[in-house]
Amino acid sequence: MRYLLLILFLALLQTASAQSTHKLHYKAVLVDTHNDVLSSSTLEGKDISHRLTTGHSDLDRWKEGGLDVQFFSIWTDKTPRDKGGLFKDANQEIDSLEILTLRNPSRMTLVTTYKQVKKGIKQKKLVALIGVEGGHMIEDDMAKLDSLARRGMRYMTLTWNNSTSWATSAMDETEHADTLKHKGLTDFGKQIVRRMNELGVIVDLSHVGEQTFYDAIATTSKPVMLSHSSVWNICPVFRNVKDDQIKAVAKNGGVIDINFYSGFLDSTFAKKMAILEGTEGKRIKDSLGQGYDQAKLNQIWNKYFRDQLEPYRPTISKLVDHIDYIVKLVGVDYVGIGSDFDGVSSLPVGLDDVTKYPLITQELKKRGYSDKSIKKILGENVLRVMKANFVK
Ligand SMILES: [Zn+2]
Repeated sequence: MRYLLLILFLALLQTASAQSTHKLHYKAVLVDTHNDVLSSSTLEGKDISHRLTTGHSDLDRWKEGGLDVQFFSIWTDKTPRDKGGLFKDANQEIDSLEILTLRNPSRMTLVTTYKQVKKGIKQKKLVALIGVEGGHMIEDDMAKLDSLARRGMRYMTLTWNNSTSWATSAMDETEHADTLKHKGLTDFGKQIVRRMNELGVIVDLSHVGEQTFYDAIATTSKPVMLSHSSVWNICPVFRNVKDDQIKAVAKNGGVIDINFYSGFLDSTFAKKMAILEGTEGKRIKDSLGQGYDQAKLNQIWNKYFRDQLEPYRPTISKLVDHIDYIVKLVGVDYVGIGSDFDGVSSLPVGLDDVTKYPLITQELKKRGYSDKSIKKILGENVLRVMKANFVK
C-alpha cells in the first residue's frame, strides 16, 4: 500500500511538471530565425494557409508548435531562376510572402519595426519578418540593398555558400581557398555592413567564412546574428562556428541560432554523409544503377542515400547539447533557435516538423534550466538583437 501511494505521488508529480513545461512553452515568446518554406514550396504554388501533410511548416502547424515570430528566408541560387536576375528573384519571393499575409490577415502579420513585433505577439498572430539569405541578391549595388530594406528586409546573410565580389563564404574559404581573389570583406563589403547598420538590417553571419566573420564583427556597430548555425566543436563542418567565434559573438552582444540539420548537429551523421557524397558513394551509385536510365537511377540512389543515413539521425538531446555548449562557454544570453525547417533533408528523431518545438523546451527543462533561461533561449535573446538593430 505504501509503495502504491509512492508510485501514485510520483506519477502526479510527473504530470504536474509536464503541465508546467507545456505552459512555459506556450507562454514564452518563441522566435525562429530561419525557415525556407518560401523558396522550397510557396513559390511553387503550395498554399501554407492550410494544414499540409508534406514539408515541415504551415500556419496551422506553427500555431500548434507555439511559434510566435518567424524570419522567412528569401533565397535564390547564385544563378537566377529566370532572366530577370537575382534581385528580381528576391523581390518575387517577398511578393509571395506579402500575398500569403494579405490572404491571412487574422492569423499573421508582416512587420518591420520592433514595436510591430511586440504588437503582433500580443495579438497572438504569427509575426513574419524578412531575412535575405545571400548578399548576391543585391547584385553588387548599394541601391538594391536600400530597396530590399525598404521592402522590409530585416536581416541579410552576407553570403550564402557562394562568395560575392565583396565577401567570401565559409564554403569557399574552406574548400576553394587557393582560387579566391580576395578573402574576407572588401572595402565595399565594409560599406555594406555599415549601411545595413544604418538601415536597421541585422548583419547575419551564418554561411560566411571566418575571415568575413571577423571583418564584419570589427566593422558593425550593432549586435550580429547567426541565423542558422551550430557548434563546430561538437560537429566540425564548415557551416558551424568555432569557440573563438562564439566568444566574439558574445562580446558583440549578438546571438547564435542553432540549426536543426542532422548533418550540422552530429559528426557521425556528417561523416557518413561525406562518404556517400564522395568517391565511395559514386562507386555504389554506379553499381546500383546498371540497366536503369538517369531518372530511375537518381530515384534509386536518393532512397538508398536516405535509408543509409536514417540510423545515424541524431536525438533531440544532441541538438540541446549545442545550446548547452554555448551556454557553458559564454552564458545564456547568446543562443537561440534557427531551425532551417523546410530547407533541410534530415532532422533529429522526433523533431519531424514545426509542431515539435515543445520537445526542445522539455529537454531544456529536463536538464535543469530555469524558466527564465529557457525564455531567453526560445526567443528573448533574438528579440534583444532585433531591438538593438531595428530603426524603430
Ligand atoms: Zn542556409
